[in-house]
This record gives sequence, C-alpha cells and structure tokens, in this order.
Amino acid sequence: MRRRRFVKSMGVTIPATIISSSFLTKITAQNTVTGNVIIIGAGAAGLYAAKVLKDAGVNITILEASAIHGGRIKPLNGFGDFPIEVGAEEVHGKGNVMGDPPSFLWNSINEYDPDLLIEYEDLGYKEIFALDDDYIIYPPEWDPDFVDAVNFIDMMYAYTGDDIIMNDYLADEFGIVEGDRSWHVYEAWIGAEYGDSIKSYGMKSMAVSENLWLTGAKNYALDDAYLNILDTLWFNSVLENIEYNKQVTSIDYSSALINISCADGSTYSSDKIICAVPLSVLKENVITFSPVLPALNQNAIDILQMGHGMKIILKFTEAFWGDNVYDITFKNYPTLAWSPGLIRTDTTNNILMCFTMGERAEYLSGLGDDAIPAILAELDSLFDGVATPAYVDAYIQDWIKEPFIKGSYSYPAPNTYNSETDSRRLDLATPIDCKIFFAGEATNNHHPSTVHGALESGARAAAEFLECLSVPVNETHIDNAIEVEMFTANNIATFNLNTPKIARAKMYLQSIDGKMMQQFYYDTIPSGENMYQFQIKEIAKGNYILCCEVDEKMVSEKVIL
Ligand SMILES: Cc1cc2nc3c(=O)[nH]c(=O)nc-3n(C[C@H](O)[C@H](O)[C@H](O)COP(=O)(O)OP(=O)(O)OC[C@H]3O[C@@H](n4cnc5c(N)ncnc54)[C@H](O)[C@@H]3O)c2cc1C
Repeated sequence: MRRRRFVKSMGVTIPATIISSSFLTKITAQNTVTGNVIIIGAGAAGLYAAKVLKDAGVNITILEASAIHGGRIKPLNGFGDFPIEVGAEEVHGKGNVMGDPPSFLWNSINEYDPDLLIEYEDLGYKEIFALDDDYIIYPPEWDPDFVDAVNFIDMMYAYTGDDIIMNDYLADEFGIVEGDRSWHVYEAWIGAEYGDSIKSYGMKSMAVSENLWLTGAKNYALDDAYLNILDTLWFNSVLENIEYNKQVTSIDYSSALINISCADGSTYSSDKIICAVPLSVLKENVITFSPVLPALNQNAIDILQMGHGMKIILKFTEAFWGDNVYDITFKNYPTLAWSPGLIRTDTTNNILMCFTMGERAEYLSGLGDDAIPAILAELDSLFDGVATPAYVDAYIQDWIKEPFIKGSYSYPAPNTYNSETDSRRLDLATPIDCKIFFAGEATNNHHPSTVHGALESGARAAAEFLECLSVPVNETHIDNAIEVEMFTANNIATFNLNTPKIARAKMYLQSIDGKMMQQFYYDTIPSGENMYQFQIKEIAKGNYILCCEVDEKMVSEKVIL
C-alpha cells in the first residue's frame, strides 16, 4: 500500500492521543494486572499488542505459525546492497495541511531518529507513464485521459452513490473499459495500490474508506529495514515470548479456560486470546472456533476481502529507465515499479521493485519463475529491448503462496462500509465475551492495509483486554461517570471527555434542524481524561449544535459560529 496519490480533501481530525504512545502509557499506568493471554500471530498487530500487555504485567505467549516474526513486514537479505522490502516498505502519513496529525508510527520513528524517514516525494524524481505503445511521458499533465484519471482519484472520497464495482462505474459513467489507453492507469493507481483490482472495489466503500483515512497522504521510505526499526522501537522485548512454527488450528472458548490446538499437535490454554492472524486465514477457516463465532464477526469475515499480491524484485547492470526516474506505471503485468536504490547514497545496485496485484498477480503467480521473462518482455517493449540484456537476477515474493498470509491486504470490497460507523471492520474488531479480541490490519476502521493500522489495531485490542480485566464483563455502564465538556472558539471545537473505561465516542456538529454538518470523530476513546480539538470547516455564520455521544450518554450544546 503506497497511497502516494490519494489526497483526501475532507478536513477531519483525530487527536494523536488515541493512538499514540502517550495513550499506551496511560493504559499501563492505570492498570495493575495479572492474567494470561495467548496472542495468535507475530505480525505488527500481534507484536504491538504483546508489547503493551507485557509492559502492563500480563503473562503473554505469542503463537506464530511460521518460523519468523514480522508477517507482512519482511526484509530480503542478501539480494541487494541496501535494505530491500518484499512486504511493507513505506511509512504513511505525516499529517496534512487540513489538520490531520501524523500517524503515530511516523511520529515514533521521527522522535527516535528523524534521519530514518526519507521524504522521497519531495526530491524531484521523475515518473514514467506507459500510456500508449510507443511513447513514455514524464508526467503527462497535458494528456486528457491522464488528467481524468488523476481527477477521478482525487474525487473518490466525494462519491455518494451505491456501492457498485468501480470497474463497472468507470464503464457506465465514463465509458472507460479494460483495453482503453488509460484503463491501466486506474488499475495501477487504485487497483494495485489498494491491494487487488478496480474490478473488486465498491465505489461507496472506497469513498468511506478515503474519508476515514486520517493521517494525510505523504509517504516515507526508510533508511533501514522496516522490521529492524520496529524491533528496536517496540518488538525486541517480546521476541522471547514467541513460540514459532505453531499454526493454531482450533480455539475452544466454550468454558472459562480457552483451549487452543496447533497443527503440530501441541495444545495450550489461556484466560483470553488476541487473534491477530490475517483476514484470509479467518476467511479460509484455518482456525475452527468452538462455539462458532458470533454472526456479527462471521458476517464481517465473509464480507471483507483480502487481495492477491506480489512483489518481484529485479536487478540489472544499468538503470536503463533513467537516472532520475523513481516510478514507472506499466500497461500490463508489472503494473507499478519503483527504483528503491535511487534514494540511497550507498548503493551500486540497479534494482526495480515491481508491485502487482489482483488478476495480474494471480496470472504471474500461476507462471511461477516464468513470471520473470513475462515482466522482462514488458520492460523490453517499453525500453526498446534493453531490459533482457541488462538483467542480472530476480526475487519473486508471492504473497498469495505464503501459507500463513495468503494474500496482500484487505481492500474496500462492496459492503465493507455502509457508512463510517456501519462498518464490517468495526464488526470484525468486536471482542467476544471479554475472551477473544481481534487485531490485524483488516480490523482497523481508519487505516486498514497498512503497518500503522496494524499497530493501532494491536494497541486497541490490548486496551480492550486491559479494560476487560478491570471492569466486570456484564457491568452496565454508569452514564453519570462520564463527563463531557465542550465549546467552540476561533472555529475550533474542543471536547474534554472523562470516561472510566474505554468507550465509543462520537463528536459532531449539527445544524439547528438536526442536519449533520461535520462529523469530527467516531471510534473508541481511552479511559481517563482526554481533550480533543477539531478544526471546523468553512460554514455559514449562525447557530449550531455541538454534540457528543459517549457510549449511551448524549450531550449537546448550542454554539454560535
Ligand atoms: C506487498 C505488500 C506491500 C505493502 N506495503 C506497505 C507499505 O508500504 N506500507 C504499509 O504501511 N503497509 C504496507 N503493506 C501492508 C502491511 O504490510 C500490513 O498491513 C501489515 O504488515 C499487517 O500486519 P498484521 O499484523 O495485521 O498481519 P500480518 O503481518 O499478516 O501478521 C499475521 C501473522 O499471523 C501469522 N499466522 C497466520 N495464521 C496463523 C495461525 N493459524 N496461527 C498462528 N499464527 C498465524 C502469520 O504467519 C503472520 O506472522 C504491504 C503489504 C504487502 C503484502
């Protein structure tokens, strides 16, 4: 997921506290806990949950199906003379001018060592676009088909119609069909970037997803292996708690103690579980739950979808695509490629990183090693036959064939979202009886398909777990224990919230006749005192109502703007 081109124009704001390390400090400080939890999956989500819980004094065990940790964050060692990533490569989101704050991952790396974050998008590199067979454009602002594609992408968030398949919408509304000279631009920039194909995405779900994205559009490369950085920041302290080659195949949560079985015949028991496996694993029923999962979670698993994806890394004797070219958009199989060595000063390697998703990835996956000549042939057709003679070596990372991952990442399939709050991701994330908690990128309503989204989901699941330990499961929430204070000044809406436990909160502005003017926030908030501030969008002067719902408590306040 690169999200390089997607500039969300809506100005919603999320306070950094909800997902920042200070949020975690708050949780650990307020809970002295004992207990035992098994975390299933040592990807970013599972490891981050593990770190939070271990810090809080919980006895943790992490069961990981493979022989390594990191999941979809995976360095390729020994292929090049700089860190090469076959999974996640970029850090998303330094916030934006609309007031969105940076992702907490960006913040954490920036605090630790700002030099690790490479702001390559501002370095003035060129891009190549294959629009027709015989020419390459750098960049084709004058080309009407290209401009249409850019405009379409920029306006995806504003779509308000039915959740029809994007490919069908493009055909019906604009007459753009596969084979047209610009169709592949949509397939590359939306199809591949979101992990599958425009033939798989629902228009409404895509729009809602765009509006929920809260960390801006900027992306950063890293000047070290992604996993090294995360290990240093958070994971090192829990690596000793991982048991490798433990593929969980069944979870029996019918009695107080949960019983877990693995494919190698080993069994475990625990008080609670955090399930942080990829969506694909849940979809394929690799793990049998007993009793079966509640309809809410199972329906979400059925509706949410995960894409097919590959990265194919090619090494050449020369950078025939151009000394100053970073990105290439292809017409066919390679789909997108970039030159990761360009942003390094210490490399002599000429490497192209091809990023292919959806049907194209399925096709190349079916070819096995013959995928390489297929890609070289397309490079040859674009670069006058120079690719094959310059070819040195290749590495194929086929995420479809990874036995414990089975795909790329979750994408906005039709019905993923009916609205920002009516979301299958939220449904999937719903804990079961304070016993089973779900983490993983697919459970993140705001930032699915990303590393920071996976980390945030781990933080959320850990917080839910801790809250369950300190609050009896069936205790009804006491409304008057929730304090809400809110006001506006200088077009900023301020909400001071104090809640004894993690709660769902919705903060918004209404017109006097009850029309929603601006939704600031809808998600969980941590326990304790929290202040949230949001920029109010341009609005006609007059009377409005500031509203705040925290669990069942609803507070409203008339304000003059
Ligand atoms: C090609 C590609 C490029 C990407 N690029 C970026 C990027 O540039 N920036 C970005 O932010 N994100 C990117 N992503 C997405 C990002 O990698 C993921 O969103 C994130 O790493 C997912 O973390 P996770 O913990 O949810 O899942 P995973 O990393 O998949 O971890 C799940 C773990 O569960 C284990 N597991 C599975 N089944 C079982 C079982 N039955 N029992 C025990 N363990 C099990 C798996 O082995 C795995 O270790 C990319 C992903 C891909 C595939």
